[in-house]
Amino acid sequence: MRELNLIKPGHVGWVERPDPVLADPGDALVRPFVASRCDGDALPLHLDGLKHRAMQAAMMSGAIDPAVADIIGKDPFAGPFGIGHEAIAQVTAVGEAVTDMRVGDIVVVPWAVSCGTCYECRLGLTAKCSTFVPTSPGRTLSCFGFGPTSGAWGGVISDTLRIPFADHMLVRVPDGVDPLRVASAGDNLTDAWRGVAPTRAQRPCARVHVLGGGAQSIGLYAAGLAVLLGAERVDYFDDRDTRLEIAEGFGATVHRIDRSRRKSAMPRIAERYDIAVEASSTGQGLRDALRTLRPGGICTGNGYYLGANTLLPVMDMYATSATLQVGVSHVRPHLPEMLDFIARTGFEAERVTSLLADWDDAVDAYPAHTTKVVLHRDPLDLT
Ligand SMILES: [Zn+2]
Ligand SMILES: [Zn+2]
Repeated sequence: MRELNLIKPGHVGWVERPDPVLADPGDALVRPFVASRCDGDALPLHLDGLKHRAMQAAMMSGAIDPAVADIIGKDPFAGPFGIGHEAIAQVTAVGEAVTDMRVGDIVVVPWAVSCGTCYECRLGLTAKCSTFVPTSPGRTLSCFGFGPTSGAWGGVISDTLRIPFADHMLVRVPDGVDPLRVASAGDNLTDAWRGVAPTRAQRPCARVHVLGGGAQSIGLYAAGLAVLLGAERVDYFDDRDTRLEIAEGFGATVHRIDRSRRKSAMPRIAERYDIAVEASSTGQGLRDALRTLRPGGICTGNGYYLGANTLLPVMDMYATSATLQVGVSHVRPHLPEMLDFIARTGFEAERVTSLLADWDDAVDAYPAHTTKVVLHRDPLDLT
């Protein structure tokens, strides 16, 4: 079968590899037909040779936090490996122990592999499922699209994926919801949901602050979801007109900021927020977002903070009883509620898609310098 690979940093190409097969009775095989680009994939896709060597040097010198090597290996993005981990797929085969999923079902594929019954899964920490992420050193993730350090699951821009514990892992796209609308539900869209929806549910008058940028689509999804979740106020800050326009289209109040200065890019504003979504992927963004919180406010850092010893305003957080949540997204537990919300409200998540491309054009489209790439092809007729 054909799979899009990161050949080396900055280069993708199609690679032939054997089709996965049903290996366990609880497995399903699925055929992705919508795939979208996680904001994090822009990092390896846009690393040229010079930047890659600079990144390797920074990892060697300790300027990049050693935890990064634990997550993605000491020579990250070396390639070749199947890239891509956000997909909507069609079930094409099920093992004999699968009782819920059926051939032909249209499903969201969560980016991380999980069993649904271990201690971590029962806590909702499905991206840290201990059935697939042993506590031994050398692996912190088990997922699609991150290369051999995260298991041999392959990338989702491929013809077949093997899904273990399929009845648990896969979640059907609700009837009437366009798969293109929820293309990113396997990771970024649901990551945005977890930063906004749980806190909004506890605070009827919640005010929301979103700092956009590095995690481009997550910040925009968060702004749009916050508006539709009925937040009292949603302020979106960014320096890029294309993203500001999308946020404004969602109904957020947008603010253009200047990131050319070294210090905080945030304007002095009197507003304080219950929820802050830090999607700029910068330490300064984290500090800015934390300092905007109301008493008891919660900031979610959705970006990568690669630098060693990222500074945080801890006394400021103490003074406001602030909470900072960071970490990989645990998509599976949130999917049913989020998909139901989108089915009920018609949230137009596809507004964030800045490049909708044909599957066969993935080599040109997937690395494009744009906010959100979505690839698509026709599903099979399995009736
Ligand atoms: Zn991702
Ligand atoms: Zn588990």
